[in-house]
Amino acid sequence: MVMDIFKLDESWRDVNTIIPFGLGRIGKRVLPKLMETFKIPFIIDNGNAGQVYHGITIYNLNDALPLINGRKIVVLTIERIYVDISAQLKEAGYTEYCDYCIFERFVEEWHYKYEGRCCLPKLDTAITSRCTLNCSHCAMFMPYCKDRKDCELKELKENFEQIFQLVDYVFEYTLFGGEPFLHSRLADIIECLGTTYAEKIGQIVVITNGTVLPDQRLLLTLQKYKVILSISDYTAVNLYADTLSEFVKRLDEYRIQYYVNSEIEWKDHCFPERSCDYAEEYLPEHMRVCGYTCHSVNEGKLYYCDVAWGARKHAGYQDQEDDYVDLFKIRRDCSVEQAKLQILEYCMGNVNERGYMSLCRYCAGMGADNSRTIQAGT
Ligand code: SF4
Repeated sequence: MVMDIFKLDESWRDVNTIIPFGLGRIGKRVLPKLMETFKIPFIIDNGNAGQVYHGITIYNLNDALPLINGRKIVVLTIERIYVDISAQLKEAGYTEYCDYCIFERFVEEWHYKYEGRCCLPKLDTAITSRCTLNCSHCAMFMPYCKDRKDCELKELKENFEQIFQLVDYVFEYTLFGGEPFLHSRLADIIECLGTTYAEKIGQIVVITNGTVLPDQRLLLTLQKYKVILSISDYTAVNLYADTLSEFVKRLDEYRIQYYVNSEIEWKDHCFPERSCDYAEEYLPEHMRVCGYTCHSVNEGKLYYCDVAWGARKHAGYQDQEDDYVDLFKIRRDCSVEQAKLQILEYCMGNVNERGYMSLCRYCAGMGADNSRTIQAGT
């Protein structure tokens, strides 16, 4: 491995109180679990200041500053937004890794260093390559997939078993596709995660476009396991507003939690049609700036980003053996402790000796160095 992955200083050792910064999509999904482990005196969120969340007051940063009193700030957001928040905190006199850090680092580094546990913020599994839409800029490259099909339940169960032999806890486990509601065994897949791995998963999430109406059994399963649906609203470019209304109505009837994401930002990854060709020396920085935190586990292989998995599986990209972690292989060849550390290092960006995924050379990514924003759902 080429770098020291741990960055938090020793003052984090006895932390039992944290101040979350950010109550967006990530914050709402993970805060209930964080509240079970840590004391949370208040939340910082500039957009929701003045409101109360689960009994906890929300302040904007200026009002929060006099109340922080040396307690650690954990920023609940993605890398792109973290860069701005980090600049605000630095301006207010705070130091990264001493006074604050991003949620992903906190989860992975803190739990390993002080509890010896392999905890991840998020894992994704693609359960089908079938979809009701055919977006040409799909980040999973579905239009290039010649053999659209659902993953077998048995294979999915084996995949879950492989990852949970080594991962002690994941705050959010996301099922996606394609369109996961097309999978006839979706209820069984959720049931498997919700029963067998109940102690290891904080929140099950399903990403859907809301085009396929769930039947009663599926609704009851979603309700039983308190699944959150992340609904990508593509009605601005696809005509299914009536179906989406009915979809949401059914969720309301069964009191299922969901978010409708209407202002989704997509970026053109350029691969494979107009592949980029970044300079070798820039590639580690390109991957870091991309800040992709949706690690993907499929067919017993852990990929740093969903995109790399999608390129291999659906667009015929020939990746390299050090692009992914083969879970069966590390379980066979390493001690459990070594394997856990390897998973953490990989997810924290230390993916291989090169320092980047081979696909990063051709893929424009999601970072600030890609200005090709496009209409979601196209
Ligand atoms: S730039 Fe690299 S890390 Fe980012 S999405 Fe593309 S392949 Fe994944």
